[in-house]
Parts: sequence; structure tokens; C-alpha cells
Amino acid sequence: MRDLTDLQKALATGAAITVFSVLATFVPVYIWLQIDPVIDRPSIYAACILLPALISPACSFFILRERMRVERLARENHRLANTDELTGLPNRRAFFVAAGGLQAAAQEAGLVFVCAIADIDNFKRVNDDFGHETGDKVLTSVGGILRAATPKSGVIARLGGEEFAMAAAFADEAAAKDGCEALVSAVRRETSLAGEPPLGVTISLGYSLAGAGDTMSALLSRADHALYRAKHAGKNCALDAQQFSPLHGASVVRLARV
Ligand code: GH3
Ligand code: MG
Ligand code: MG
Repeated sequence: MRDLTDLQKALATGAAITVFSVLATFVPVYIWLQIDPVIDRPSIYAACILLPALISPACSFFILRERMRVERLARENHRLANTDELTGLPNRRAFFVAAGGLQAAAQEAGLVFVCAIADIDNFKRVNDDFGHETGDKVLTSVGGILRAATPKSGVIARLGGEEFAMAAAFADEAAAKDGCEALVSAVRRETSLAGEPPLGVTISLGYSLAGAGDTMSALLSRADHALYRAKHAGKNCALDAQQFSPLHGASVVRLARV
């Protein structure tokens, strides 16, 4: 049965229900006729209407309940496949899908599209000093702060470990820079407030502005390179990948003015 196609399964189920319905209608009437061969016509008519009227809703109920269960499982499956369990943020797979859509829309609207990668600074020390459980709480809390600081029309995701990615469209390069720096300052500010235990957490961030024909992988790769530079520049800052490949910047400006 497991190897059958969906169509074969549907046909087999339909045939089984039909046979069951016919038998469930015919057998009681047949038995009734054996016991009492002189049933009057109205009684037979009543039986032929009543029995299917009872059988059909029962079959429909079971089929509908099964369908609802399958749809619920499909929704849950989709959620699990696209969500990071710890932080509740979209995961890497969902990020690529959402960011791809945002990039196309931004290019259409002539906006500057930005991809950023943020990494928590010295996170290993948080685990070492306060334990893995506190580390998990910090990840969840930083995820929430980043979500709140990301533009409503953008997307923020956990790529894995203590790494997050943001994608959003901005009016111009200055706004994009402000938007990325806002993520860094939000984490610094929010985590320096009261907490249990009190922790001052910072992130480093690299970002990359999209040029014509840039793939998401290319954008993330440049952002990752800028992140690497941000770590070496002393952490707790946001750096633009354009600084390290100025030629690319020229195409970004042209794109933004389309
Ligand atoms: P840097 O500032 O250079 O990024 O240093 P770092 O300590 O943040 O980076 P490193 O790569 O040395 O350590 C990352 C740590 O993140 C190591 C790993 O155990 C921890 N980590 C990764 N995923 C999780 C997680 O889901 N929960 C917890 N608690 N820790 C995690
Ligand atoms: Mg780190
Ligand atoms: Mg890391």
C-alpha cells in the first residue's frame, strides 16, 4: 500500500467506500427481508434513504478529519523546515527565499538592497563563563533585539551558531549604513541593560550592497568578508564590503538610481 501513488490510493479509497456503502445499505435490507418477507414498500424506501444518510456523513467526517490532520502536519513540517527552533527566527533556507524576493522587489523599485551577516563577539566566552544554557538565552535575546531593529519590510534570520543574516531595501546608501549600524548599537544597548546574569553582548557585522546581477551567495560572501574585517578591526562595529572592493560600489550607485 505504501508504494502506491496518490492517485491509486484515492481510487482504492473511493472503491472501498463505495463497496462499504452498498453493503451497508443492502445487507440490513436483505436481512430484514429474510426475517420479515412482507415488509411494506414505504419501509424499504425509508431504509434506502436513512442508511446512506447515516453512512455518508460518517465517511465524510473521517475523510475530512484525515485531510485536516495531513494539512496540519504539512504546515508544521513547513514551519520546522524554515524556522530556527531556538530563536524562532527564519533559518538559512527561509532567509534565501525571503531575501531573494526582497532583492527582486528592491531592484524593481530602484532601492538599495543590502545583505548583512552579524556574529556575536566572544560568544565562546559566554558559554565558558555562564554555561551553555545562558549561551542559548543570549542567542534568543540577541535574535529578538535584531528582529526589532530590522526594518519591517526586511528579513532577519539565524544562519547557524551565533551568526545572523539580515536583508532589507533602503532608500540610499547612507540609509543602508545607518540601518546596519543600528543593529550593532541595538545589541550593545539592549544587552547592557539589566539581565540575568547581566551581560554586555556585542556583535560585529559585515554588509554588502547589491549590484546588478549579484546572486544572494555573492552578496553573503562579500558580507562575510566584511564581517571578517570587522572582527579584525576590534569587533562591535559594522563594515561595508564596498570599502574592500571599491569598484563594486560604482555599480551599486548606478543600480540605486535606475
Ligand atoms: P568571535 O568574536 O571571533 O566571533 O569569537 P566567538 O567566541 O564568538 O567565536 P567562536 O567561533 O570561537 O565560538 C563560537 C561559539 O558558539 C562556539 C560554540 O560552542 C558556540 N555555539 C554555537 N552554536 C551554539 C548554540 O546553539 N548554543 C550555544 N549556547 N552556543 C553555541
Ligand atoms: Mg562569534
Ligand atoms: Mg561565528
